[in-house]
Amino acid sequence: MKTTVQLPHTSYPIWIEKHAIEKCESLLNLNRKIAIITDSGVPKKWVDMIQNQCPTSFVYTLPQGESSKCFDQYQAILTACIQQEMTRKDAIIAIGGGVVGDLAGFVAATYMRGIDFYNIPTTVLSQVDSSVGGKVAIDVEGYKNIVGAFWQPKAVIIDPQVLSTLPKRQINNGLVEALKSGLIRDKELVECFKQETWDLEKIITRSILVKKDVVQQDEKENGLRQILNFGHTIGHAIESAYGLDTYYHGECVAMGMLFFLDNPQLKQEVLNIYKRMELPEVPDYDIDVLMDYIRHDKKSAGNTISTIHVEKAGQCTIEKESLEQIRIYLERGPL
Ligand code: NAD
Ligand code: ZN
Repeated sequence: MKTTVQLPHTSYPIWIEKHAIEKCESLLNLNRKIAIITDSGVPKKWVDMIQNQCPTSFVYTLPQGESSKCFDQYQAILTACIQQEMTRKDAIIAIGGGVVGDLAGFVAATYMRGIDFYNIPTTVLSQVDSSVGGKVAIDVEGYKNIVGAFWQPKAVIIDPQVLSTLPKRQINNGLVEALKSGLIRDKELVECFKQETWDLEKIITRSILVKKDVVQQDEKENGLRQILNFGHTIGHAIESAYGLDTYYHGECVAMGMLFFLDNPQLKQEVLNIYKRMELPEVPDYDIDVLMDYIRHDKKSAGNTISTIHVEKAGQCTIEKESLEQIRIYLERGPL
């Protein structure tokens, strides 16, 4: 299926279809020089499938992991683009998870003041979340996504086939963000997670539609787009304090959402889904340590912070709450 993201200054297609990467040729303009950016964890067969359709291309492979989303790799890719004599008419393809997409997108945003960028996400997280919305960035001095841009892709190709090589824990990590999208805006998507077997293609499609709809209404996160941060305030704090080597991002977001699910019955339903995702439990945490991270969070302004609450599946509210109130949530605990 094809859906189109409509923004005031641009629009682009998202293709969601099994085997779509086998026909990039017909979906993208590959008749120019293509820089294919990927990482060492992305199976070569997916990269080859794309490169074989590009008449003139080169592949740049990053070491896998968040630490590649850095200045050194950014510079190295730019250098490769210069050495390969990439021009403003050429294009970059990202094939990988959010790390590859964010970094390759930032290169595309800045090389020669911006060149075409195609995103082919290969993790669930990047398929349901990071590949749509135009946020591209690198981490600097330990600050995540501190240097970046809004740079919309020219097209996104989501092929569920590539998930066949993705480890289960990575799949579940991404599914948390999909569940998040359901909880804030799509009851039917939450229902998908209650079925005996999970229809990944349907879950991905519905998640993308939520993200698209939100981004269309608020491209640069001045208002509505904040709802995508559901679970992220406390989730990020747990991730920063305890997660870097222990937990994945989605696992921390799952923990963070529990504090803002105000309806006990809904919380129980969500916990049942977490069990099927085999997510880790919330660790014992130090409230002062988490509060320190929350205070420094980008979303806090002075003594208040925007939080997202979900009372009923598919409906959320944005609230401004004091840091003292967040401390009370932490004291009360996730359950
Ligand atoms: P990731 O990119 O690190 O990928 C996870 C791992 O899976 C990597 O080791 C990778 O090599 C491997 N992999 C990728 N595709 C595979 C496949 N098909 N088969 C087997 N292995 C595969 O992690 P992620 O969870 O995809 O993305 C996380 C990043 O996304 C973070 O840097 C985060 O900041 C960013 N992000 C960005 C946005 C945005 O709006 N731009 C939103 C959410 C997250
Ligand atoms: Zn997230």
